[in-house]
Amino acid sequence: MQDVTEEQTQGKGSVTLSTPVQYVKGVGPARAATFERLGVRTVEDLLEYFPRDWVFAPERIKIAQMKPQEPAAIVGLVESIDYQRYRRQPLLEAIVSDETGVCRIVWFHGGYLRDQLQLGQLVMLSGKATVFKHQLQMTNPKFMMLDERHTEPDRYFSGGVYPATAHLSSRQIKKIILPLLDHLEELIDEFHDESYRKEASLIGRKEAFAWIHMPPDERKLAQAKRRLKYDELFLMQLGLALRRYRTQHYASAVPCTLSDEIDSRIRRRFPFLLTHDQDACIAEIAEDMGRTRPMNRLLQGDVGSGKTVVALYAALLAIANKTQAAIMAPTEILASQHFLSMERYLKGSQVRRVLITGGLTGKKRQEVLTQIGQGEIDIVVGTVALLQKDIEFQNLGLVVIDEQHKFGVHQRAELRKESAPHGLVMTATPIPRTLAMTAFGDLDVSVIAHCPPGRGAIVTRWVDRRDRQRAYDFMRDRLRAKKQAYVICPRIAAVEETGNDIKAATDTWKELSEEVFPEFNVALLHGRMPSPEKQQIMTDFRKGRIDVLVSTVVVEVGVDVPNATIMVIETADRFGLAQLHQLRGRIGRGESKSYCLLFAETDNEVATSRLQVMTRTNDGFEIAEQDLRIRGPGELFSARQHGLPDLKIANIVDDLDLLMLARRHAFRMVTEDPALRQPEHANIRRALLARFGGSLGLADIA
Ligand code: ADP
Ligand code: MG
Repeated sequence: MQDVTEEQTQGKGSVTLSTPVQYVKGVGPARAATFERLGVRTVEDLLEYFPRDWVFAPERIKIAQMKPQEPAAIVGLVESIDYQRYRRQPLLEAIVSDETGVCRIVWFHGGYLRDQLQLGQLVMLSGKATVFKHQLQMTNPKFMMLDERHTEPDRYFSGGVYPATAHLSSRQIKKIILPLLDHLEELIDEFHDESYRKEASLIGRKEAFAWIHMPPDERKLAQAKRRLKYDELFLMQLGLALRRYRTQHYASAVPCTLSDEIDSRIRRRFPFLLTHDQDACIAEIAEDMGRTRPMNRLLQGDVGSGKTVVALYAALLAIANKTQAAIMAPTEILASQHFLSMERYLKGSQVRRVLITGGLTGKKRQEVLTQIGQGEIDIVVGTVALLQKDIEFQNLGLVVIDEQHKFGVHQRAELRKESAPHGLVMTATPIPRTLAMTAFGDLDVSVIAHCPPGRGAIVTRWVDRRDRQRAYDFMRDRLRAKKQAYVICPRIAAVEETGNDIKAATDTWKELSEEVFPEFNVALLHGRMPSPEKQQIMTDFRKGRIDVLVSTVVVEVGVDVPNATIMVIETADRFGLAQLHQLRGRIGRGESKSYCLLFAETDNEVATSRLQVMTRTNDGFEIAEQDLRIRGPGELFSARQHGLPDLKIANIVDDLDLLMLARRHAFRMVTEDPALRQPEHANIRRALLARFGGSLGLADIA
C-alpha cells in the first residue's frame, strides 16, 4: 500500500484506472470517504461517474452583437462597480466594456460580490441580455474572473452537472474529474476495431469519455452516450455469453429421464389436473433435465399461478433419477410455506424431505447435514443463505430458487462452482419475454400465463377516510362468516414525525384488537419478531385460529391461505404497484370471492394512478406494463435485481436496440474466440475481468 501511495503521488503520469480516488488531485481522505458513499473508489469509478445533466454555455460574442432576450457570453473589462445598499432591493451594479461597446450588469442582493469584482479586471459573463432604460443589461449572470489561474472559462460555464451530496457539490466533482480528461490517452483502452465501429456507428472510447464529461455540443454528447451505453451493455452481454458457453461446453449434469411411469407416478401426487400452461412448462423442463447440459431456466408466473407445483414436479423427476433436489426461498417464512405445501402433496410418499431453518442448530443440525451428505434425504428446503452455507450434497441433481421478485444470478453461479445441477429459477415478476431473453441472456424462459381454474374473483376498492367505518362493517360480516383477513401496514412502529400519517402495524393491531374487532382474534406479525414466533403465528393463521392478521409486508411472499378472502392495505399510496399486486396475490386463492381494500388519502398523481390501476385490473403482465409506464423501468429492471453489476448509463428497456446490437456482437465474439485469447480482444478481456471478477467464472479465461 505504501509503495502505491508514493508512486502515485509522485507524478500525474502514474495515475491508472485502479488508482484510489484519495490520491487524485483535489481529493484526499475526507473526500475519498464521501466518494466511497457514492460508490466511487478508483479513477475508473470517477471517469464513470457520469453527469446527470449537461449545460452548454451560450456562444461567446462581442457586446455589440448582444440582442435583447437572447442568451450570450461576453468577455469584458470591469469599468465601474457601484453597490446600492439602500434600495428596496439592494443591488450591485457594474459596467463592463469590450472594444465594441458597454453593458450594464446587475446582481440583486449582490453585496457579497464586492470582494470578488475589481476595477480593471477581465471578466467573463454568461446570461440573458435585456434592455433597461434603452441600455443593454444582464441580470444575475454567471461570471468568472479571467486571470492566470482561470484560463478555461468555457469549461467553467459548460459541461456536466453531477449527482451531488451535501459534502460534495457538482462543481467540486467537476473540478476533480476534468483534469483527468487530459490523461485519457493513457487511461482508456479501445475495445472495438475501426471497421466494427464504423459498421455500428460508434465513436472512439477515449472521445466518448472526454465528451460525456465535457461535450462540445449536443450531437457529440449523444454520440458519447451511445458509445458508453454500448460498451456497458456489450460487457454485460459478453459476460452472459461466456457463462452460457462455459455451461454448454464444460459443465455436465446428471441427465434425468422421464418415463410414462415416472410421469404418472408424479401426477398422482396432485389432487387436481395440471393446467395446460403447467403441462407446457413441465415439458420444457423435462426436456432440459434429460440432457447432460445443465438446465438454466426461468419459470415465470403470477402469484398463485401454480409455479410451486411445477417446481415440485421437477424435484420429483430429479429424485426418480436417484439425485437430490434443493429448494431455496428468499425468506424463512416462504421456505416453510414451500415445505408445508409440499407436505400436502407428499403425504404418505417415500420421498425423504427436510426443512432447514435458522432454529435448527447444534447436534440436530449436524445430524441432518450428515444425512444430506450421505444421500439419505431427497429434498432439502431452506433459505438461500442457509442452503449455501456449508451443506454438502451427495448427489445434487436440481436446484430450485424461488426468487419472487429478484434474480440472483450470482447466487446460482456460486452454487455451481463444484457441482453442476440443473437449475430452475422461479419468479412472480412478469417480464416481457423478449426483454427476459436479452437481459438475462443465458436463461431459457417458461411462462405460466393463466391461473388454475376455480379461483374466486378479487374485487379491489379504493377506500377513503369517510368510508372506513363501512369497510370495517363489511369486514365484520365476512369475519362472522368465518372468513379471514389480512391488514397490511407500511411500517412496524410509528415514527415520531409531525404530519406523518403512515399507519404502523403495532398501532393498527392495538386499535383493531381493542376497539374495532374486540370479538375476534387479531394477531400481529412483523419482521422484527423472533423466527419461531412468526412461524407459530403463520401456522395459527393457516389453521384458522386467527381471524385478522395485522402485518407488515412480511406476508408479501408465498403465503397461501385460501380461506383468507379479505385484504386491507393501510396507507396504500405508500406502496409501489408491483408490491401492491404481490400483496393482493395473497387473497383470491380459494373459490369464494375476495376483497382487497386499499385505504389511502392522496392527491399525489403518481400514487393516484397506481391505485386506479389496481382497482381496474388483476392481470400481472398488464400491471407490470403500467408500472413501467408510471415509474420508468429503472427499479423494476435494474441490473442489481438480476445480480449483475449496476448499469451506470445504459438501461435495458430504453436502450433495447443497442442492447440487441451489443448482444449479437458479444455472442459472435464468444463463438469465434471463446477464451478471448486473440490479441485484439486483450483490452476487452481485461475490462471484463475487472468488472465481473470471479463472479462469472471468468478467471478461467484469464
Ligand atoms: P405460485 O407458486 O405460482 O404462487 P402455487 O403453486 O403455490 O402458485 O399454487 C397456488 C395454489 O393453486 C395452491 O393452493 C395450489 O394447490 C393450487 N394449484 C396449483 N396448480 C393447480 C391446478 N392445476 N389446479 C388447481 N389448483 C392448483
Ligand atoms: Mg408460490
